[in-house]
Amino acid sequence: MKCAICGKEMTKGFWFHVKSHGLTREEYEAKYSSEEITEEVESTEDVQQENIPQQEADPLADLLKEYNITLAQLREILDKELSDKKEPEKSAADLILEDIKATADSATEQAMKMAGPDELTTNDLHIAEALDKVCGYYVTKVTSNPKTWHLRKRSLRRRD
Ligand SMILES: [Zn+2]
Repeated sequence: MKCAICGKEMTKGFWFHVKSHGLTREEYEAKYSSEEITEEVESTEDVQQENIPQQEADPLADLLKEYNITLAQLREILDKELSDKKEPEKSAADLILEDIKATADSATEQAMKMAGPDELTTNDLHIAEALDKVCGYYVTKVTSNPKTWHLRKRSLRRRD
């Protein structure tokens, strides 16, 4: 249909375009005869809606028309938008917690398997921590290349 303000012809986003002139749909229709508008529209699907006379202000319908989408499409967009926003927040925090817990768990598990000898070495900080906290060892020194924690049984230290 043709814009009565600037004369531009378009098939989609007409009311959105009208808005760009700073007019609402109501203002546009009041200013330019609605007869002219409906004639222009005759061949499009909009005709039926256009001709319903009792139509009151329907912001949702206007919105759909403005973006030239159906209600189902709008719903799809909102579903996607809202689920995108909600889930990553939750699962990101969950993943971090799970990761920390899993790392600590497996380190503790390995530390318990290693525990026994008077002296131990490990290249894993988490295992060194687990040996210290859970298995009764203490770190005697840390060497590099590769970084290695040397641990000793605490019970031996007491006797020293
Ligand atoms: Zn225009």
